[in-house]
Amino acid sequence: MAKIGLEVHVQLNTATKLFCGCRNEPNPKPNVNVCPTCLGLPGSKPRINEKAIELGYRIAFITNSKISHKMFFSRKSYFYPDMSKNFQITQYEIPLAIGGYFDVEVKGKRKRVRLIRVHLEEDPARLVHVGGGITTAKYVLADYNRSGVPLCEIVTEPDFKTAEEVVAFMKKLLSYLQHIQVFDVKKGKWRADVNVSVPGGNRSEIKNVGSIKDMEKSIRFEIMRQTHLVKFGKKVDMETRTFDSETGKTYTLRSKEEEIDYGYIFEPDLTSFEMSKDYFKKLDDSLPELPEEIEKRFRKDYGLNHEQASILTYADPALAGFFEKCAKTYNDHKKLANWLIVEVLGFLNSVNKEFYETSMPLRKKQFIKFLELMDSGKMTGRIGKELIGKFIASEDNPEKLLEKEGFSVIKDELKVRRIVKETVSEFPKAVSDYKSGKEKAVHFIVGAVLKKTRLQVDPETVKKMVVEEID
Ligand SMILES: [Zn+2]
Repeated sequence: MAKIGLEVHVQLNTATKLFCGCRNEPNPKPNVNVCPTCLGLPGSKPRINEKAIELGYRIAFITNSKISHKMFFSRKSYFYPDMSKNFQITQYEIPLAIGGYFDVEVKGKRKRVRLIRVHLEEDPARLVHVGGGITTAKYVLADYNRSGVPLCEIVTEPDFKTAEEVVAFMKKLLSYLQHIQVFDVKKGKWRADVNVSVPGGNRSEIKNVGSIKDMEKSIRFEIMRQTHLVKFGKKVDMETRTFDSETGKTYTLRSKEEEIDYGYIFEPDLTSFEMSKDYFKKLDDSLPELPEEIEKRFRKDYGLNHEQASILTYADPALAGFFEKCAKTYNDHKKLANWLIVEVLGFLNSVNKEFYETSMPLRKKQFIKFLELMDSGKMTGRIGKELIGKFIASEDNPEKLLEKEGFSVIKDELKVRRIVKETVSEFPKAVSDYKSGKEKAVHFIVGAVLKKTRLQVDPETVKKMVVEEID
């Protein structure tokens, strides 16, 4: 069995950076959100962002961690263009919190993931590799907009055994971080270093994996690579690797450095200080409803089953809120849940998109209208399924879309009967099959009618008509 541990870095949702007043927000223009402090110019001094501390503590709260009331920062020395002052301000000796845990559900079973620590640190600058990948670029540009953005690092014990467990953990963690408003998926990024080892080999660290899909692929690849080496008696080196999502493989970056190599010292420009009991009480009181509670409530209030409620709660940060807002005006909650899960998420999955990335979170009324068109018989379920992708992508209102696509339900019963009659006469083999007891043969003719009418008829009515026609 493999052993997998994570170091997850999450950009905190603050207005300004961790140690200066520069804006914490992405900007397509490089090096605009900068000042002497986050550029690391000599003589500049850091000052701490109170909001970042609060958000860090919130994470400590939801991960059941033992909180340090004392706030203390250290310098981690390293020499690289993304950190121009040659050290990163981080927490080492006294992290924000230690010894927490986070429970996840994998294949219906609860699994506890132990956390080693939760701490704050500054994000380095972003390096842009020009003319090649991370190991082949012609030259590298540095964008200091990211330098000094507050990060919260969550370090787990190597408690995961499979990629599947890691995926479940990340999905739930990200969902929690968004619910407690420390992470804004539209603005902030997260990335993780993934440590993987198999029995008989050394641990390798895959650096800076930035999506759940890449995480899953890189872990599967790494387990396969290491297992293969061990099996053939070769050595698995202790090293830092990088994942290339194009090839789906990991590559050696450098041999792994040890914590001792970083020469940590206390940060002399920031004083240590202590938070009061009152501060923590207020913080605890301000935490919103957590996803686990939302999931329970969805089952109770809307009659959903466990699977439906969990998908709506955890599949996408914007989904639970969207469902709940729709459920206030649309009363068939099971149908609402079903369409969101099966059709909407099904479509998004097929085009590799997330719900929050679409315009859907803002189109509550239009989506309800979409469902109502089916309820009133103006659109068949089949057409609904056919159109859902276009509806999500187009931003059109559903009635306009229906018109534009030339789909409207054929109300003229005589017309439908005529098409049925014509189709039945075209398939004598299916008719004789049906007559000789093969009832399924009728579906074949129904399918042909649906095709001819571009799905603009109700399949059940057509089936009835076909049977009547044959008999
Ligand atoms: Zn700055």
